Amino acid sequence: MTRRSLLLTSIAITAQPSPFPWPNNRKAALSLSFDDARHSQVDTGIPFLNKIQVKATFYLLSSNYTKRLEAWKAAHAAGHEIAHHTKTHPCTGNYAFAKNKALEDYTLTKMAEDLDTATDEIVTTFGVKPTSFAYPCGQKFVGRGANTQSYVPLIAKRFLTGRGYLDEAANDPAICDLSALMGTGLDNLTFPQMKALLDAALKDGRWLIFAGHEMGAIGNQTTNLEALAELIAYAKTNNVWLDTVANIGQFVHNNRKSTAPAAQ
Ligand SMILES: [Zn+2]
Repeated sequence: MTRRSLLLTSIAITAQPSPFPWPNNRKAALSLSFDDARHSQVDTGIPFLNKIQVKATFYLLSSNYTKRLEAWKAAHAAGHEIAHHTKTHPCTGNYAFAKNKALEDYTLTKMAEDLDTATDEIVTTFGVKPTSFAYPCGQKFVGRGANTQSYVPLIAKRFLTGRGYLDEAANDPAICDLSALMGTGLDNLTFPQMKALLDAALKDGRWLIFAGHEMGAIGNQTTNLEALAELIAYAKTNNVWLDTVANIGQFVHNNRKSTAPAAQ
């Protein structure tokens, strides 16, 4: 190999795209989010987060939050993000709980009504219009077979961000669709498992959005708070921007040039 070809090879290997310009020279971003307004979130999880001064995003369901209304208003006052998760939580009818509200039987019109009803309730209850949405069960369609339609456009028109569930990678801030963000499962992970996912995001300067449900020790769909405390400490010592989906989503929206902005 000649000296010139060696030089060209070396340039090809080192010419990586410049990393996304996270604020304050942060190396990656991390959002903690929790779904359904499960009671353990206000009873156990939010007091834990308040103690260590970390803000998270909560995708609320009115069927649950109305049963702990004062606690949820206090969570909002403490700076946690109040976000949207539909009114009726429709998912594929293959889940027994969704048999009578199956996405296969929904239309875009029915979904739009569901979304707008939940927004009105949140505005009336909390005095804020939610900008973050999480797809129930991570599913983004209505109808079936040849008549299946995506409801991502409904979300793009109403919210800054839409988050999925049980996705296997963190978001690339330079190109991700803010209306179809990847959401990585957090429940039942050990600290080493959480750390491995954050390390992968750190390596490529990505935005990891964790999605959990119950907050406590162990159990079905439960985020372990001891493991989460270790993760938060690790994020703080490794120059990770830890913030709500709304705050990081807004920064990503404002700071990239090559993709079309999300519809507002
Ligand atoms: Zn849910």
